[in-house]
Amino acid sequence: MIRPLSPRVEAVFWFLLTATGYFLLASVSLYATKGADNIAAVWPPSGYFLALLLLMPVRMRIVAFAAMAAASMSANMSEGIQVAAAAAYTVANAAEAVIALWLVRRHEAGEMSFMAPRAVGRFCIAALTASAGSAVIATLLTGNGFDFLLSWMTTVALGMLIVTPPIVMLARMVGSNALNNVPTAMKVEGIALLTVAAFVTGASFAQSDFPVTFLPCVAVIVAAYRLGPFGAAAGMLIVAIIASLLTGQGYGPISAMDQSQKVEVLFLQFYLVTMLFIALPLAALLVVQRRLAKRLAQSNRWLLQAEAAALVGHWRVDLVAWTIKWSDQTYRIHGLEPGTPVDVDYSVAQYLPDDRVAVQKILADAVRSGQPFVYQGRVMRADGEIRHVKSHGSIETGRRGKPVGIFGTVQDITETVENARILESARSAAERIANTDMLTGLPNRRHTLAFLDQALRRAEQEGAPLAVAIFDIDHFKQINDAHGHATGDEVIRRVGQRAKASLRDDDMVGRYGGEEFVCILQGRSALAAELVAERLRKAVQGDTEGAATGLPGVTVSIGLATYAGEPNIEDLLQRADKALYAAKREGRNRLRMAA
Ligand code: GH3
Ligand code: MG
Ligand code: MG
Repeated sequence: MIRPLSPRVEAVFWFLLTATGYFLLASVSLYATKGADNIAAVWPPSGYFLALLLLMPVRMRIVAFAAMAAASMSANMSEGIQVAAAAAYTVANAAEAVIALWLVRRHEAGEMSFMAPRAVGRFCIAALTASAGSAVIATLLTGNGFDFLLSWMTTVALGMLIVTPPIVMLARMVGSNALNNVPTAMKVEGIALLTVAAFVTGASFAQSDFPVTFLPCVAVIVAAYRLGPFGAAAGMLIVAIIASLLTGQGYGPISAMDQSQKVEVLFLQFYLVTMLFIALPLAALLVVQRRLAKRLAQSNRWLLQAEAAALVGHWRVDLVAWTIKWSDQTYRIHGLEPGTPVDVDYSVAQYLPDDRVAVQKILADAVRSGQPFVYQGRVMRADGEIRHVKSHGSIETGRRGKPVGIFGTVQDITETVENARILESARSAAERIANTDMLTGLPNRRHTLAFLDQALRRAEQEGAPLAVAIFDIDHFKQINDAHGHATGDEVIRRVGQRAKASLRDDDMVGRYGGEEFVCILQGRSALAAELVAERLRKAVQGDTEGAATGLPGVTVSIGLATYAGEPNIEDLLQRADKALYAAKREGRNRLRMAA
């Protein structure tokens, strides 16, 4: 705080600082402002001494008390006060410093701050307690009466309350280099405001024609508002010095009251105390409020940053005023410039007609039930682009549970929706590929068997008829041998197509193996199934279109089995396969029913 000094120099420094300051302030106060009972209106040495005690290193306090005692004795005696009385006053002033220091230090482990309302309150209590203590001591030691006690107490209390804060704050500002961080404009403003306070006080207390003692109050409040606690404290100090000096010399409206000196001093003290108890708390509260406002602005900035980063906006409907507020990110999601005026109806109209009704219903239900809500919908942006948004929210209730507002977040989930759509189409494409036979485009063996399994379960549960036909191309080896494998493939494909074309949409045909196929016929009687299978056989046989493209004509043999309570598809297929084998054996190009 203050340059490091060698212990001896340090002791001399604090001794001289305490002694000269105390002596000068005491002499000036006694000379200029003392009342009938030889007590000054304000006793600044008390405040000065307390300020130094708060600022100095603890080990220097003993030196400071010695300096204070010496200065107090000499100042009192040079004003013509008896040794005994001077000693009594000195003891009382020393005692008050001890009490005040103890009370302030008890709560403020670190540095005493005048920025927090609570610390200011505690400082005031310490000053009042200490002054009461010293008044009692001084009164007892001098044998004076109640008037002396009261006057002593107010004088000392004012001295501490007015002088200690500005000295401590200024020393701290200088010591912590905070003064360098204050912008020049603010320094100029501070000096100007304090100068104005000095002039206004001088003008108010140098004459009594116009009693304008309220003007210094205005100046101090302006200083407090613009400069904070230091402005309040420094302004108070200036007003107190000028007002008490001028009043002590018989100038100004208080002297002109033509009352006894005692009453005038009391009035001046009352004036100063009133101003003090307005300015100091006001300044401290302002600091708190500014700090809160700063924190609020910071939180708001963070919220906006978080919204922008997360692409989540928020909105709030005031159900009473029927207005809506959008956050900047909400505007961005809707493709609008933040701040563009919007109303509730406009906000709802942003949704595509298909989604609008659903959104309105969800919101109305939420307002009715008071429950949180979530909805998803498409909005048309200002530029015509359609975006998917998702909103979560809750209902705000007022007194007696009445809904007063709807608060919601809104998130642009277009990409998520789009990704989900792509994923779903990729999944269904993959599924299609996994289930399809590449040569014929028909369901492959795996899919055909799975389908048959489901059909069998259904037949089992519902008792609906089910038939399975297995058909196999006749003498296919010869086709391969005579025309080549590629033509063989083409023939397989062609047979598949013909078979499918001869069936209804509900019937299914899949490739079972090489040149073998399976037909699954659901909900058809045995006779109907037989007719279908026969139609299929003829369709393959009479494939003139295939023949026209140069493909060799082929026939198929078919084994047909109708579901007869088989527990699994293997048994059913086996029966059909046996029938197929019979058809082959009996000459091919024919249909055989399973036994
Ligand atoms: P049949 O059925 O009338 O008793 O006589 P087949 O000559 O058709 O005899 P089988 O059904 O046992 O022969 C099937 C032949 O089909 C065997 C194989 O070379 C051929 N084959 C199997 N899969 C394919 C394929 O994907 N493409 C081609 N080109 N030929 C295949
Ligand atoms: Mg075969
Ligand atoms: Mg064959």
